[in-house]
Amino acid sequence: MPISRRKMLTRGAAAAAGGMALAPQVTGQAPAQLTGTNAGRRFKAFVRHGTGASVEELRLHAIQPREVLVRTQASAVCYTIVGGALSTANVAQASIPNHSGMGIVEEVGALVKRVQKGDRVVVPGTPQCGVCYQCLHGRADWCQFLDTAPAHPLAELADGTPIFEQAGLGGLSEIMVVPEEYCCPVFTDLPAEQLTLLGDTVGTGLAAGRDLVPIEPGWNVIVQGAGPVGMGAVQAGRLAHAGQVIVIEPIRARREIALKVGGTIALDPNAEGNGLVAKIHSLCKDTTGGRRFAGGRISGEGFLAVPDGADFTINAVGSDWFPPKVEVGPDPSAILPLQQCFDFTRAGGHIVMLGVAWRGNVSFNAAQFSNRGRTFYSGQQGGLNMLRDIPRYVKLIERGEIDMKSMITATYPIERTREAIQAVGDRTVLGAVITFA
Ligand SMILES: [Zn+2]
Ligand SMILES: [Zn+2]
Repeated sequence: MPISRRKMLTRGAAAAAGGMALAPQVTGQAPAQLTGTNAGRRFKAFVRHGTGASVEELRLHAIQPREVLVRTQASAVCYTIVGGALSTANVAQASIPNHSGMGIVEEVGALVKRVQKGDRVVVPGTPQCGVCYQCLHGRADWCQFLDTAPAHPLAELADGTPIFEQAGLGGLSEIMVVPEEYCCPVFTDLPAEQLTLLGDTVGTGLAAGRDLVPIEPGWNVIVQGAGPVGMGAVQAGRLAHAGQVIVIEPIRARREIALKVGGTIALDPNAEGNGLVAKIHSLCKDTTGGRRFAGGRISGEGFLAVPDGADFTINAVGSDWFPPKVEVGPDPSAILPLQQCFDFTRAGGHIVMLGVAWRGNVSFNAAQFSNRGRTFYSGQQGGLNMLRDIPRYVKLIERGEIDMKSMITATYPIERTREAIQAVGDRTVLGAVITFA
């Protein structure tokens, strides 16, 4: 029988040749495993339930065919979860807070291809399915699998109460059960507490400055907010040889760390007050003396004037859940920094928004907005394409080019999870990581 090209393409060589043999297996992928071999296993997790939260012993359910069981090694507490995790409002569904982690694969469902038992995996805040509209259009950090993944409990309490994972993955738990779309295998010996930061905060800041808007050598870069997200952006600026990395951060301890990892100047927004925008413009002044035919900026008149300003501003300020125990920023709602990022940036410059503002509105001068605009991006994870970018960042950490050590200022065992969340809320720590034995 002649071998048809169409059959070759659709059914494989063996099928086209007469179907005597099975189509060749794709190599390098995980072997099928029996599901449910860990069902009933007991483990500890920090659980938000009823009007409180506590460390509980749970009983694991069987995993599903496209799911992966990860024994967690580390999970960094994200500021975004603080309000919900410490709240005393009654919740209908018990769940494990947080949305990133890092660990070792201990079981895979029969249909899983991306990872194998024994792999080290980063489990980031957003999945990457590779086939949805956003994944296909360069914005894997907005992967639509996030909204379509079936939510079911991974475990139960002794009394049978079902336990879910926040955002489909949780993290503050000895075990995570996630669809394979949430897994990024990493082939490295780097410490787990450093790797887990690539799945959320620091990875997000790095992605914004390396992948969403790649920083060019010599650029004036502003980073608003030197929390773990902003610190990733500061390091992206250093790695890309930005001309300046100007950090704006009210907390002195964070300004000091920012200067250590790549900031060239760190400003206290409380000390600068209403003069902050003018200060930024003077720091980012046109160095040609207004010579428009020598690479200088063309200056218009009045409301159409082309302002001095940064080439790129990264906003990484989150609104406060409650007043911090350290220096309080000028606007707890985080609206002021969003307003200022427009004014900081030159016409045609870039702005990426990574911070979370929950309430309020931002307004811009209409003529500036319509005729002298800036390019805005917002990002679920700063444009992170996890399967492409996390392995790159791993190499840069291994070579000492990304400083992950300085990003972690406290580690906690799971029994002290509440204390870790409180410290993140108080902003007395930079990176707080729960580590597991
Ligand atoms: Zn987060
Ligand atoms: Zn997708």
